[in-house]
Amino acid sequence: MISINSIKNKILIFAILATVIPSTGLGLLSFWQNETLLADNVTHQLRTLAVDASRELEYWLEARTVEVRTLSTSNTVINGLSHQSESSSSNNSSQTSQALPHYLRLVQEKLSPLLQLAVLNPNGKIVASSGTLPAPVILPNPWPQTAATDGVIIDTPHWNQDHNTTTLTLAVPVLSLDNEILGALIAVVDLDTILPSLKYAAKLSPGHILLLDLAGNPLLSTHNQETQFKPVARQVLQRLRTEEGKPITFDGHLQNTVLGLAVIPQTLPIMVVVERDRAEIYEAWSSFRNLFLTLMGVLTLLVGAVAWRMGRSIVTPLEQLTGAADRIAAGDLTLQLPVARRDELGHLTQVFNQMTGNLRSSHQEFKAASLTLQKQNKLLETLSITDSLTGLYNRKKLDDILSDQLARFKRNQRPFTVLMLDIDHFKALNDNYGHLAGDLVLESVARTLSNSIRNIDFAARYGGEEFVIVLPETALSAARDMAERILIQVRDASYQFNDQLIAVTLSIGVANSHVGDESADAVLARADRMLYEAKRAGRNRVHCTD
Ligand code: GH3
Ligand code: MG
Ligand code: MG
Repeated sequence: MISINSIKNKILIFAILATVIPSTGLGLLSFWQNETLLADNVTHQLRTLAVDASRELEYWLEARTVEVRTLSTSNTVINGLSHQSESSSSNNSSQTSQALPHYLRLVQEKLSPLLQLAVLNPNGKIVASSGTLPAPVILPNPWPQTAATDGVIIDTPHWNQDHNTTTLTLAVPVLSLDNEILGALIAVVDLDTILPSLKYAAKLSPGHILLLDLAGNPLLSTHNQETQFKPVARQVLQRLRTEEGKPITFDGHLQNTVLGLAVIPQTLPIMVVVERDRAEIYEAWSSFRNLFLTLMGVLTLLVGAVAWRMGRSIVTPLEQLTGAADRIAAGDLTLQLPVARRDELGHLTQVFNQMTGNLRSSHQEFKAASLTLQKQNKLLETLSITDSLTGLYNRKKLDDILSDQLARFKRNQRPFTVLMLDIDHFKALNDNYGHLAGDLVLESVARTLSNSIRNIDFAARYGGEEFVIVLPETALSAARDMAERILIQVRDASYQFNDQLIAVTLSIGVANSHVGDESADAVLARADRMLYEAKRAGRNRVHCTD
């Protein structure tokens, strides 16, 4: 099943329709015209042939009449008849009765169309004959006016068994010098002698000529297969007669379908039928039709193949582009399509590649920007929890750490410890060495604190010159030890500013978390109290809650 939704199939269907519809239309029109022309042409040819044949027949009859009429005026015939009437009284006729038949035989032998000549007295009795005596014939009474010039056909054309041919019997009156009718000269004429003339006519205009008597019995045909003749059907005969001169289709005398027409000459009781084999007429036409259909088939296949290729050449790159677009949508930006064409689709592919390229570089820029932003965010995050001077955690982060530690403590009941550290006499240090020296000391102390604690511990600047160290899951005694260690490390470190050595000591308060602590501030407060005690006790020392 061909889907209409495909561009390829649409092109294919359009191309085939565009080929088949106009060519079929033109073809049918041309066939119709050709058929009409052919029919007109054949009708014209048949009519010409029929008229020619009919004219030949009339000329032929006229020639025979002239021959017989000339004979009727010969002295031998006139005298023969005159003497015959006289001798009917006297008995001296033997000489005449021998002279006339002899003359008739002589003439008949010379004039080949004449098969038999006979002389009749006015009563219709045969006086002399060129051959064996024919059956008596009935002469017209009175003779028509034209009889002397045109003759009278006294026996319609028919197959003559005696002469073994188709014959026609013609009679002319024999007149005395006083224009009295002495009798008649009759001639049995061989109709076959017209055949060469008819065959000649049939050569000029294609077709066969068939002579029928008025009852439809075949007399003569230009066709060679004479033995197969059969009488023309009554209905056909009727139609030929009523539609005289017009072509009709009927079963011919050779059992084939023919196109034919009939003409009846005025002077003869004969119907001239001309016919042509219908299959033969339309042979060229039908072979042309078959050629046309074959050509149409080949043309349609050819156009179909071209359209299919064209459709494919459009659809294949489109499918490539669609596939590429799908891959891009799925995130693959490495794609680069080959540009093998110079047409619109080639341009589209080029633009597509450009677009993909732009998208790729935009994506790379976006990735770089995103990475920078991530770094900046990380930095911001670090800054937000870091003290800018010392690099330790700031107060805000310390609050989070303590809250977190308290929550952990509440979960696992393992206490954490807080060290609160304060530089001794820092105001005096500032005053003596300057604020800058104070800052340097703060930085140095912070570094020492960082280096002194474990990975799991946190050191933060609590404010001014105060620091807090948080020791997760650490017992008070261990915390105190660490505080002592830090105290010594800070005291023993060397602080130098403008070639001046500065002495720095710390006071440290240590406290751990208690089960009842509501917040981390409680632990801080206890550590602060311990710090206060350490200060009061003389500074540079550690004070622990227990
Ligand atoms: P005590 O031994 O009792 O702790 O006495 P002290 O002088 O150290 O304590 P006090 O609270 O009297 O003075 C703290 C001084 O620390 C006051 C302030 O000027 C100074 N200070 C606070 N923050 C900074 C800072 O960031 N840089 C410097 N250079 N000095 C600071
Ligand atoms: Mg202080
Ligand atoms: Mg102080």
